[in-house]
Amino acid sequence: MADRRKTRQLVLGDEAHGFVRIGGDAPVSVQSMTSTYTHDVATCVREIQKLAAAGADIVRVAVPERKDTEALKEILPQVTVPIVADVHFHFQRALEAIDAGVHKIRLNPGNIQDRAQVKDVIQACRAKKIPIRIGVNEGSIVERKDKQKRMKELGQVFSNHKHGYLLSIILTKLEEYIEVFAEENFHDIVISAKSIDPQFVIAAYTEISKLYDYPLHLGVTHAGPKETGAIRSVVPLGHLLLNGIGDTIRISYASDPVYEVEDALELLYILGLRERKGAELIACPTCGRIQVDLFTLTQQVRLKLKEEIRLPIKVAVMGCIVNGPGEAEGADVAIFAGDRRGIIYVQGERVANVPEEQILEKLLEECKAFQSKVERGEAKLGEKKVDIIPPDPIGELGSGYAKIENEARGRALNVIR
Ligand code: SF4
Repeated sequence: MADRRKTRQLVLGDEAHGFVRIGGDAPVSVQSMTSTYTHDVATCVREIQKLAAAGADIVRVAVPERKDTEALKEILPQVTVPIVADVHFHFQRALEAIDAGVHKIRLNPGNIQDRAQVKDVIQACRAKKIPIRIGVNEGSIVERKDKQKRMKELGQVFSNHKHGYLLSIILTKLEEYIEVFAEENFHDIVISAKSIDPQFVIAAYTEISKLYDYPLHLGVTHAGPKETGAIRSVVPLGHLLLNGIGDTIRISYASDPVYEVEDALELLYILGLRERKGAELIACPTCGRIQVDLFTLTQQVRLKLKEEIRLPIKVAVMGCIVNGPGEAEGADVAIFAGDRRGIIYVQGERVANVPEEQILEKLLEECKAFQSKVERGEAKLGEKKVDIIPPDPIGELGSGYAKIENEARGRALNVIR
């Protein structure tokens, strides 16, 4: 992985909502956005707190109308994470949100054209020490009627690039906009340049990272439902983060935003950019050797671990003992399934052999007991005491190999017949 790009650092938040640093040596932060109406205070507060509980560092809310910025005054005292007001078209919403006490403003240069209005927002943010994100989304940055003209003017700059003209427009627009902030000597800004096209996202952020030292907010906009949006999002975000680019991220799904937070955190965990909180689950994909309902078991284990385990305990759920021990090596707690049974290991020591219906309960019990031992200082995470010795498949886990052998014998007999 490349070294993280050096960026300016800014801080948002307050005592009541916590402080979040973005840029510089701060860990990459995770953001999400509510999907409820901001003026529906109780529902909005519930969703913000749900996102905070899932691990969101910052939550953004839409404020399209005055009743939404009014609601912020009631929402802010009830939530525990810094809140960003998402402003489009109406600069007054930004001023009202700042007055209500939000911690950051997101502005879209594509739809607030009047520079004097932008300067009013900058002054109000300066007075309250609130940073601003300049979000230049592909969908709204280009004035559509002007597109052909701009394409001709700017198309040559990145003529070899698939998205040359769009990249040029975004960079030009961004430059024009940043000039407004520079004229006001305001530098508490974060930049984003989202698109639905992963390759464009990579190109845009890569170019922006060469031009400015402001922190970058990474994202793929309108990525779709979680099922397909995950790949569309993590490919470009992972690429950029591996190249040291990105200070804060939002994954956007047309699904419950809690998934956005969970997947963004998982991405940062697996890239080693954040210290994992909670258990890490690995599980085999299953194959023709499987003799328990491993898909159901894995989902049940995942949900229970989320509820009960605070420490980054590595838990492996393996369908059999063929590849299981090797692949589960390094796991603190592992289960290897056999013929309607499961053998459980804790740091390489076998602790139980239970029927399928007891696997979940016993595995969780062992995870919790191990967590307590670690918290008491009697065990260390990731410290394997002995190698996992594969159990005897027939003697302990039932007919795993016997079944395969019998099938093989059956096939052989069929050939002879
Ligand atoms: S652990 Fe066993 S059941 Fe799971 S994929 Fe590997 S060989 Fe198949």
